[in-house]
Amino acid sequence: MERSLTVNNLAKRYGAKTALDNVSFQVKEGSCFGLLGPNGAGKSTTMKIITGIIDADSGEVDVFGQDIRKSADQIRRLIGYVPQEITLYDKISAYNNLIFFGEMYGVKGRLLKERIKEVLEQVGLSERVNDPIHTYSGGMKRRINIAAAMLHKPKLIILDEPTVGIDPQSRNHIFEIIKNLRSEGVTIIYSTHYMEEVESLCDDIAIIDHGKVIVQGNLDDLLRLYATKAIYLELENQSHPPVIPGINKVSEHKKGWLLETDEVLPSMEHTIQAVTETGTKVKALEMMKPSLESVFLSLTGTTLRD
Ligand code: ADP
Repeated sequence: MERSLTVNNLAKRYGAKTALDNVSFQVKEGSCFGLLGPNGAGKSTTMKIITGIIDADSGEVDVFGQDIRKSADQIRRLIGYVPQEITLYDKISAYNNLIFFGEMYGVKGRLLKERIKEVLEQVGLSERVNDPIHTYSGGMKRRINIAAAMLHKPKLIILDEPTVGIDPQSRNHIFEIIKNLRSEGVTIIYSTHYMEEVESLCDDIAIIDHGKVIVQGNLDDLLRLYATKAIYLELENQSHPPVIPGINKVSEHKKGWLLETDEVLPSMEHTIQAVTETGTKVKALEMMKPSLESVFLSLTGTTLRD
């Protein structure tokens, strides 16, 4: 598969603050790439550099084989960017906002009207098209913002934390929009600090923290390589588990215990055996699903929280 984007050694400082420290990653054409990191990690800065809104201090960005510094105008036509802040005119209708943004992206006349109809269907807001934006919920405004970035049929869509502060219904709509775009072959870069969003949407990811890419690769590979393997155990009298062969670490979790191990299935057998020998009964025994949360924890030693 071809690469649609290569980011190489990006560095950016704001005064004394290092926002990006040699950030590199590659995005495959037609994939959904997750840029995952806590607030302040450098996600927005990276996206603004890719879209040419700000310049990096050093490093290169190559979009569909073109250097962003040499071909900024051409590249902008291939990219749809949905910034974190809503960028719509509140007093005018969604339709007139889309006319404005379409023309800004170089789409005009009848083609623009057709595209407005199509994108409104894609974001599920055709019926509200003539209502002024200030009557929309936060999630609906976000969907119009996404529609605006789709008008010129970009090959790459960059979304900066699109689900922050919106209702679950709009969030689900946004997930659907992204899945549909991806099935049409559009490359997606999706930044978020919500790990479960990346887990359900993305093929490949880069985890970024303090301006550095900690790890990147295929989501399944990362889970296999770095996620902690663990069993959840609850005992009848809530007592502490006995010593169990193959268990590396025991910690309190919900109403029971998290038992970390390298080999989940044999450890489950050993757990039942060891607990039974103590005369206690097992109330719950579950295999924990590998998660990005434990990948982040095992690589940084901290949790990725709001
Ligand atoms: P994220 O999108 O992951 O939340 P940002 O890229 O917005 O992170 O920010 C990365 C770091 O750079 C943060 O420490 C932030 O405070 C700082 N930063 C971002 N923009 C500016 C700016 N315009 N001036 C000064 N510092 C900034």
